[in-house]
Amino acid sequence: MFQEKPTHRRLRGYAFDPSLSKKIDTVDINNIVYKVPWEEPLEVGPVGEYVEVMDYDPTIEKFYSPVDLNDKYILASDGLSPSESNPQFHQQMTYAVAMVTIQNFEKALGRKIIWAPRLLEDRNKYEDYVQRLRIYPHALREANAYYSPLKKAILCGYFSASPADKSRQMPGSLVFTCLSHDIIAHEVTHAILDGLHRYYNHPTNPDVLAFHEAFADLVALFQHFTFPDVLKHQIAKTKGELGKQNLLGQLAQQFGTAIGRYGSLRDALGSEDEKGEWTPAKPNPYDYDKHTEPHKRGSILVAAVFEAFLAIYKRRIQDLLQIASGGTGILPKGELHPDLVNRLAREASKTAAHVLRMCIRAIDYCPPVDITFGDYLRGIITADSDMVPEDTHHYRLAFINAFRQRGIYPEGIKTLSEESLRYQHPSAGLDSKTKALLEIITDFLKDYRNAIMYETDREKIFNISKDHIAGRGVLGLHDRIGMKFKDSPQFEKLTGLVFNHQCQDFGIWMTHNGPSYQIQNLRLVSRVGPDGGDPINQIVFGLVQRMRVVRKNGKYRIPDDISKPPKKSFEVLGGCTLIFDLDKIDLKYAISKPLLQPEKLDTGARELNFDRIEKHYIYETEVLPFSLTEAARYFGNGFKNNFGEPFSIMHNR
Ligand SMILES: [Zn+2]
Repeated sequence: MFQEKPTHRRLRGYAFDPSLSKKIDTVDINNIVYKVPWEEPLEVGPVGEYVEVMDYDPTIEKFYSPVDLNDKYILASDGLSPSESNPQFHQQMTYAVAMVTIQNFEKALGRKIIWAPRLLEDRNKYEDYVQRLRIYPHALREANAYYSPLKKAILCGYFSASPADKSRQMPGSLVFTCLSHDIIAHEVTHAILDGLHRYYNHPTNPDVLAFHEAFADLVALFQHFTFPDVLKHQIAKTKGELGKQNLLGQLAQQFGTAIGRYGSLRDALGSEDEKGEWTPAKPNPYDYDKHTEPHKRGSILVAAVFEAFLAIYKRRIQDLLQIASGGTGILPKGELHPDLVNRLAREASKTAAHVLRMCIRAIDYCPPVDITFGDYLRGIITADSDMVPEDTHHYRLAFINAFRQRGIYPEGIKTLSEESLRYQHPSAGLDSKTKALLEIITDFLKDYRNAIMYETDREKIFNISKDHIAGRGVLGLHDRIGMKFKDSPQFEKLTGLVFNHQCQDFGIWMTHNGPSYQIQNLRLVSRVGPDGGDPINQIVFGLVQRMRVVRKNGKYRIPDDISKPPKKSFEVLGGCTLIFDLDKIDLKYAISKPLLQPEKLDTGARELNFDRIEKHYIYETEVLPFSLTEAARYFGNGFKNNFGEPFSIMHNR
């Protein structure tokens, strides 16, 4: 009989990290089987479609022989058994976690993920397709692991533990970051986010790098809820109260302890002191003003999203608790009935999956540069309203409340309500000429959709998108926008970017006949909502403009000679995400970080957006160096030298 290809490969691994297999209360739940998408071919390494594990240890100049996951004995035993001392298992573990993380993104986004392209010499021109992210399980001999945007690789370190207290961990024992689900999921998320928004590793305000960190933590955290046995165990332990200390809300336990902390590296819910006492964290609206170090600041966003999750979960289990407690809401003493644990776990996993999807989908609704937490909240609310118009379970309200409690308010809105957070449809205020021009663009985008709709090969998707931007044989999207909108003040107002050729006075990055801009991440977004309602059919892309300015006597201006900008000049980024509705042939949203002053454009004046420039300047000169000095001092290298590796110094702690 003919056997169909399997959909999944089963691979054993740690749910968290090896340390939990050494504790009596977690040993039974920590060894799990990852269900990884079946890849064929899958070479030894493993080397598949998305990732390649390269096990070279430069400190001892040694290659470890690569695991063959298709070996019949390995295949028949759900992969190698978890082991700290077997490098082939390390390879298997990194591969499994990376693939599960990628799968979660593809499910939420409804499209293939593509790594950030390799930018060669002339970084504005040359973009090379990167098929595989490289993972080095033993790349560094230090307490660190990071994603390198330059190398398109994840470098995992290993080191000897130096715990604060001998009873927590054996001092000197080896800790491998590649064996931590949380660390691998976190780093892979950095890589995926880099592929979606390349400018999110350009720190132009205190939220940008913090957002990268928070987003990576959120994905790792919510993936905990996809491990059924872990979830049931923790629900039984906390009697369903997931706001209490539990493993699901913690990240990188072994790593945290090994670098001398009490408890995990990060905990979304609270913190542990030296006596082992755990106290829940309380939201403090002043933290957001105070913390500029990316991880600390990022943890505010993580806590906000986690609280939103808890609020939604509590609502969803209310009826179950009523039934189980005979209407009192207070559960009887003793253990929960296993049936109740199962039902609570089902609700928790459903809610977590939904919240994770909301968090991932919001990425398509964020500006291409200079993101703030407030922008992200607006992205979450808008993306979710597109998907689920009736918010019967008040998911969106839960997010808004949690952000408000932490003092996170988006700029430029007057009230923190769902209605004002949702981006508005811009077409209403446009004249017929601009509307007609937008229709021409939409028609072109339809051609792009037809070319890409059924394409499943990632390299072809990359090349088709690239050709549609640059144009091959026909005029591409880039030049079409430049030509159509060169005299359109309305388009400038919509995007906040400079398209008018007559703006020599600004001197903004002149190319042959106009200020230059890039098109980023052209993509087709097709999704069906949870109720199976009308599918969403959108084309999204980002416009990015870079502008060099000099500051003199507190005023900003464009350098006279753009080809030789003065040393003291700095670069400001402007950008706009445009979302087109293909069914209604309409521009649905324009999410902008303007270089031009939008209010001035109303009066016909074209003035630089001094507010944004000033904020950027203050951040770059006064806040950024300071917020990273601690890390720089600790590792003896300045931030400047490390700029190409924005995630390396930050993980080194
Ligand atoms: Zn990170």
